[in-house]
Amino acid sequence: MGIIERQDLLAVYYAGNSREQTKYRHEYSLVEVKKRERDLSPLLKKLPADILRFLEIAGDLAEKYQLRLYLVGGQVRDIFLKVENRDLDLVLEGDLESYIRELADVFKVQYIYNAQFRTGNLVLPCGLNIDLAGLRRESYRYSGALPDVEPAEDILEDLFRRDYTVNSLVLSLNKAEWGLLLDFFNGLEDLQEGKLRLLHPFSFLDDPIRIIRGIRLAVKTGFTFEEESFALLEEVLTKADFSRLSLDRVLKEMELLFASPVDPALVALLRSYPVFRLLKLELEIDEKLTEQARELESYLAEFGEKNYNIEEWVMRMALFLADAGEGVLNWKVRSDFKEIFLAYYRYKHLLVELDRNLAADELAAKLKGLRDEELLILLVKAGSRRIKENILRYMKELKDIELKINGRDLLANGLEPGPLIREILDEVYRKRLKGSLDTREEQLAYARDLIRKSGENKE
Ligand code: ATP
Repeated sequence: MGIIERQDLLAVYYAGNSREQTKYRHEYSLVEVKKRERDLSPLLKKLPADILRFLEIAGDLAEKYQLRLYLVGGQVRDIFLKVENRDLDLVLEGDLESYIRELADVFKVQYIYNAQFRTGNLVLPCGLNIDLAGLRRESYRYSGALPDVEPAEDILEDLFRRDYTVNSLVLSLNKAEWGLLLDFFNGLEDLQEGKLRLLHPFSFLDDPIRIIRGIRLAVKTGFTFEEESFALLEEVLTKADFSRLSLDRVLKEMELLFASPVDPALVALLRSYPVFRLLKLELEIDEKLTEQARELESYLAEFGEKNYNIEEWVMRMALFLADAGEGVLNWKVRSDFKEIFLAYYRYKHLLVELDRNLAADELAAKLKGLRDEELLILLVKAGSRRIKENILRYMKELKDIELKINGRDLLANGLEPGPLIREILDEVYRKRLKGSLDTREEQLAYARDLIRKSGENKE
């Protein structure tokens, strides 16, 4: 690493002296920091009309109050990559709240403003989602802490809190400098070469979430981590302490990572980098997951149409969490999410039992009570054709079969309260699964028969 050893960096970091950290961030940037400019106004003309119009109006409003306004982040990156993006991130030098209020007024929409973080948001009727922030400097009291936010002096200082050079490009929106690209960290070159480069060596320690963001970006763009950033990623993933990292933030980022079908490149990346350590999990990621993920998508398409209430990202992530074990139970997440995450771990023993020819009632007895999502996970993980066929048969033919009679009907027909009620209902159900007793009348008649026989047995 040269000039400053990584161990020294960790020492400074863990000493928790945020002023020192800031100094090191600025002094040990991974690239030469200087103002590189380029006129991008011709490219802006190619933006979708609603985005262009919004940017012009927002720029004019800033100009009216002599405030500087910049477009930053993913949108600038995606202009170069020619990828459509409906999210805009703006940074304003000046009083953000009154600016947002007036901007929201122009578009006649509601806005949100957070004074602590100096951020705001508005959504336009055309679907554009706009995040705004004042110039901010962030420091982190420990790895993964929420940052302490102070006003930054200028846009350069604001940019130091960003994750990758390709996300550090800013575009000026004021009239005199309309479309002027400012590239302090040589992000344009990294963009052209497909490189993910951190701005400074503290970056992953400051906010380990950036590791997941980088992986998402790598999958989306095909970019790779540049050597030194990669070394830092490995070092942080193997050595840093994530005990105080907010699970909530990690899961939010995981939700984005698994929001779309799992790309084979994602499996490859997760096999190489132990990213699940951010969730305090040591997982072996099997190559088979590529195929399993593909299979999951086809089942999601097939069963999703039935309007099952399936959160697809949870399903995708559950495939990776197959061996996570019960630690997941301690996560503060929705209980149905936990059940899906744990499905394979809890029910893998069933897969062995399902690897033979089973009568309908035997099959139903094994799988009864499992939710659709759990069944889908087992289906994808199943190793043999016979197991898959059994699970599919249960899902398609048996699962929705319900009795049209209940315990009250049996009581009304002279049965005393007691365990026999359950036994008789089970018996009727078993016969129903075999394909007969379609109507309520047939089920009642059969139940009466059983009640009568049980009475005879007693006598
Ligand atoms: P995408 O389009 O893939 O969601 P984005 O880059 O627009 O990506 P946002 O989450 O909208 O992502 O964030 C906007 C910008 O804010 C990013 O480009 C990045 O510069 C910065 N940013 C967001 N989250 C972080 C973070 N955890 N650490 C550092 N910078 C961040």
